[in-house]
Amino acid sequence: MENISDVKMMGQRCEKLRRQGRRIAFVPTMGYLHEGHLSLLHEGRRRGDILALSIFVNPIQFGVGEDFETYPRDLQRDSDLARAAGVDLLFTPRREDLYPEDFSTHVSVSGLTENLCGRSRPGHFRGVTTVVCKLFNIVRPHIALFGRKDFQQLAVIRRMVRDLDMAVEVRGLPIIREKDGLARSSRNVYLEAEERRQALALVDSLRLARRLVLAGESRAAVILQAVADRIRREEAVRIEYVQICHQDTLQDMEWVTADSVLLLAVQVGRTRLIDNHILWEEIT
Ligand code: AMP
Repeated sequence: MENISDVKMMGQRCEKLRRQGRRIAFVPTMGYLHEGHLSLLHEGRRRGDILALSIFVNPIQFGVGEDFETYPRDLQRDSDLARAAGVDLLFTPRREDLYPEDFSTHVSVSGLTENLCGRSRPGHFRGVTTVVCKLFNIVRPHIALFGRKDFQQLAVIRRMVRDLDMAVEVRGLPIIREKDGLARSSRNVYLEAEERRQALALVDSLRLARRLVLAGESRAAVILQAVADRIRREEAVRIEYVQICHQDTLQDMEWVTADSVLLLAVQVGRTRLIDNHILWEEIT
């Protein structure tokens, strides 16, 4: 595995590999790798000749008062996991190279970013699409892999790629969960034992919603009420949003269909967690 921090060098290395006819699969992350990231790497390994992983905690996608400074980081451990996962190129760009002082160009997707996390985290998606666009321009991957854990992010990136005619295939992969159902997240390490227990209300409420749908309930309002009631039983958990949206448009739906996704964002103590589920699918 090669570890490259220099932006120019990474660009040149990828360019050379592409010229050799190698197919580059790319997984962008903020590091502190867990099974969710590893599933993306695994799929990337299968689909590309060259597997590239980036680790960069992107400052411009964090809002004021969010956890940029305290976001968990452990490059040594990540690097060991990356090597074991078969990564060929580990890209760890420097902040000052990606964002020089007079940096002044952003990529922003309208519409899709206005609901859900876009409401509670203004500027977040602009930061995400800007960094992903930059990383795509440096790596120029044939295929890029993202998790459905960040459902809205995936939709926004797909839209950016389509609208800006970027020559990359975007693939979304299923949410990887802990044994007890909690969606894997780098932020789970923030949770105290009791918060960790209460955080199970998320997956529990998704399961509850699915049971209601299977029993014939299709009124979104009824399902959302049941979900909110379940979550509110936990005193450490505060709801940021609970919504049922169309999986393509991310617009709220009144009636559940095969295209409905239930999306949740909560604060557990000081930790922000998200989860989601396409109601028609089974929860694994
Ligand atoms: P992050 O490092 O949190 O920015 O995530 C990097 C990539 O890993 C994104 O595409 C996420 O959607 C994906 N990811 C994070 N957690 C999970 C998970 N539990 N299951 C599947 N993918 C995930």
